[in-house]
Amino acid sequence: MNIHEYQAKQLFDKFGVASPKGIVASTAAEAGAAAREIGEAGLVVKAQVHAGGRGKGTFKNGFKGGVHLVNTPEEAEDIAGKMLGQTLVTHQTGPEGKLVSKVLIAKAVNITKEYYFAILFDRVSSSHAIIASTEGGMNIEEVAEKTPEKITKEFVNPALGLQPYQCRKVAASLGLTGALTNQAVKLFTALWNLYIKSDCSLVEINPLAITDDGKVVALDAKFNFDDNALYRQKDVVAMRDTTEEDPREVAASEFGLNYIGLDGNIACLVNGAGLAMSTMDIIKFHGGEPANFLDVGGGATKEQVTAAFKIILGDPNVKGILVNIFGGIMDCNIIATGIIAAAQEVSLSIPLVVRLEGNNVEAGKATLAASGLKVTSASDLTDAAKKIVAAVNG
Ligand code: GDP
Ligand code: MG
Repeated sequence: MNIHEYQAKQLFDKFGVASPKGIVASTAAEAGAAAREIGEAGLVVKAQVHAGGRGKGTFKNGFKGGVHLVNTPEEAEDIAGKMLGQTLVTHQTGPEGKLVSKVLIAKAVNITKEYYFAILFDRVSSSHAIIASTEGGMNIEEVAEKTPEKITKEFVNPALGLQPYQCRKVAASLGLTGALTNQAVKLFTALWNLYIKSDCSLVEINPLAITDDGKVVALDAKFNFDDNALYRQKDVVAMRDTTEEDPREVAASEFGLNYIGLDGNIACLVNGAGLAMSTMDIIKFHGGEPANFLDVGGGATKEQVTAAFKIILGDPNVKGILVNIFGGIMDCNIIATGIIAAAQEVSLSIPLVVRLEGNNVEAGKATLAASGLKVTSASDLTDAAKKIVAAVNG
């Protein structure tokens, strides 16, 4: 799960991560009022979307930049009015862009140097990693590719946590000295606490800035949270903005289905994540492109299967469906009943290939055969993949 920058700032305040004061606004008038409340000249107006690269982004109406420096509340109101209700396209949003329904009005700072700083979960080393760079404010992937020597990595043992010496080491690698080091160590420690206590999988600050009055502050924030820990992060869940998420994934999560939308045209409905991955692989192996990852789980109900079908068919790219069920806990006959109910409810008109195996499979096959539904049944995974690819491609 992701949150907006203005929400990340609330977490900064809670954990003592230094960042300029900011107020969120949903209308131009609110933006003007926020600017007056901050009460100083030198403000920044920032579009709030779940995507980076806003500064260099362009709105679909031609207005340039999702981050603007302004001087007066009138200007803040004017710029906010130009952003709100408009769609911002950045290198992270895809060509469809993201609708801006909130802006952040923050006190602007005078930057003398920008750095990159992130803490993330590193699966390769089974630890947490600090990534820092003197090349802040820009695309870190590009820095990693062109000048990898400018990136510092420091691994953090999950049992020990981030140690003060590690903070000093990272600060030194950024070339910080004296009072700036002390401030950086304080900020890194506060951010580490936020990261661990909030079950984040990523906190990225780009830029971490040094100001002309000698302060170290976080100027931007991108957070990812571990979805499996959300059950114990009620405050974080309250920040969820489903309008920023793929509507199909939102619908799937309501029914307890694990769904990830993809770009292909063969929809998959599978029980078990491993089987779902194998199904996607074998579709690709036989020349097809999966439209999604969908794991209905070990004990799916008829309602879940129906919901899964509806989500799959809500994707206009889908030209065929492959159902691949191995009945371990699952009764194949329940799946068969669910498929028929769903197919009738949504008046299915595209090819459907079903491979059933395992618990009560004969009854399941008999139910499908007796339904009159146009189903191609498959004997195994390869057969299933070949049949659906042939049906969709030819
Ligand atoms: P992003 O483009 O989505 O990554 O949004 P950022 O929050 O990083 O803002 C883009 C850029 O605007 C930053 O890299 C800074 O260079 C600049 N910027 C943001 N806030 C301030 C500020 O308070 N003062 C100044 N001078 N520049 C800022
Ligand atoms: Mg940034």
